[in-house]
Amino acid sequence: MKTFTFDSPLTSCPLCKNDAIYFLYAINHANPPFTVYKCNSCKFIFMNPPLSHQSEHSLYDEGYYTGSSDYSYYDERKTERYSQYVWNARLQTIQDYVRGGNFLDVGCSFGGFLHAASQLYTPYGIEPSAYSGKYTQQRFGKDAIHIGTLFDHPFKRNFFSVITLIEVLEHMRQPFEALTECYNLCAPDGLLVIQTANMDGLQATIQKDRYGYFLPGHFSYFTKDNLTHTLKKIGFKKIKVFQPVDFGLLPKLMKSKMNFKSIYDYKSWIRIALYHYASKIHAGNCALTSSMVVYAFK
Ligand SMILES: [Zn+2]
Repeated sequence: MKTFTFDSPLTSCPLCKNDAIYFLYAINHANPPFTVYKCNSCKFIFMNPPLSHQSEHSLYDEGYYTGSSDYSYYDERKTERYSQYVWNARLQTIQDYVRGGNFLDVGCSFGGFLHAASQLYTPYGIEPSAYSGKYTQQRFGKDAIHIGTLFDHPFKRNFFSVITLIEVLEHMRQPFEALTECYNLCAPDGLLVIQTANMDGLQATIQKDRYGYFLPGHFSYFTKDNLTHTLKKIGFKKIKVFQPVDFGLLPKLMKSKMNFKSIYDYKSWIRIALYHYASKIHAGNCALTSSMVVYAFK
């Protein structure tokens, strides 16, 4: 049985640095349970006190990738064939804005998305887990894949035409510094792509502390507003927000087939389609679901 430890509590917002923060929820469904605070100024929600680095690393051992831990990720090596649909659809949208150049996937895991991107761009990755990072180094070379973080990589400023943070930013305990580093790494006219949850979505506001997105590996919980505002503050010139995602329904349906065991599983397509179309309903800050993808142009 793992034991978890936490760092000292934060006294200011990790996103806007304001010190007007307050206790929001105790997340008791998680293992380990933790508490989240909210910033009264920018409405950013964050784990506080934050999980210690040591405990955070223990979340991402082999069990995380093979599904034997409480908190786990599906092993994308087994499902690349299905994930290709979503990866290629996303790359098609990215191609509308940036063609060719150096492509950095932050949190590149086993490199499935990078492999798809390598047909169009020169692939690079950053991956904190040595378990998946070493595998990806074998695919793309040691110089292309950095095992570490956005704060200790060897890459040069202005080097990347595209940087992607797909379901990665919520794992970062220093979101402002991470986004600033992405800005520095981005070439002039480069594009940063971010997929994370929108906590202004009804899903999050109705389910409150029971919302399944509150996980021990997630330190940072954004809204569409505070994320786009932060990106502009850092210097990105133009922001485009996709709700739910930057591709259509069909690739999502094709990807879902990876979990199918019988012909009856096609019934799940109705649920996925309803979710997809419900996610298109949004006005201002309000949205029916929490799904969003943000494109920020330098
Ligand atoms: Zn704040």
